[in-house]
Amino acid sequence: MQLRNCRRCGKLFNYVGKPICNECVQQDEKDFELVKAYIYDHPKATITEVSKETGVSVKKITKFLKEERLELAEDSPAWLTCESCGVEIRTGRFCKECSMRLKNNIGQYSSLDKDKNKEDAIDIKRTNYNSKMHLRHHLEKD
Ligand SMILES: [Zn+2]
Ligand SMILES: [Zn+2]
Repeated sequence: MQLRNCRRCGKLFNYVGKPICNECVQQDEKDFELVKAYIYDHPKATITEVSKETGVSVKKITKFLKEERLELAEDSPAWLTCESCGVEIRTGRFCKECSMRLKNNIGQYSSLDKDKNKEDAIDIKRTNYNSKMHLRHHLEKD
């Protein structure tokens, strides 16, 4: 067991990989639900309005958005800007174009691997199918 000070409230807590204590995590969940519900009812509200009405800080709301837990409606005012090109976005850290570009740059190998695995899986299915077919031919011949 490892005790640490919660980065939010400063209380000692049992560290399990998160920088904040359980109570603060639960507070975050509550805030998240509040913000989500408010945005649902007021899709055209600005981030400052939502913050004022829910009592959740702008910083925290931005954090929810960047974690892609929260997404704004198509017609709501954009609260975020792409960290790469500065275009207005409604969730995450990058716009669609930039995240595509970043994925292509970083994820080239992993995506290839994934495709290969998919092909392998299909091959296995095919082989199974073929062996069953052989079996049936066998039985029919006999
Ligand atoms: Zn705490
Ligand atoms: Zn961008």
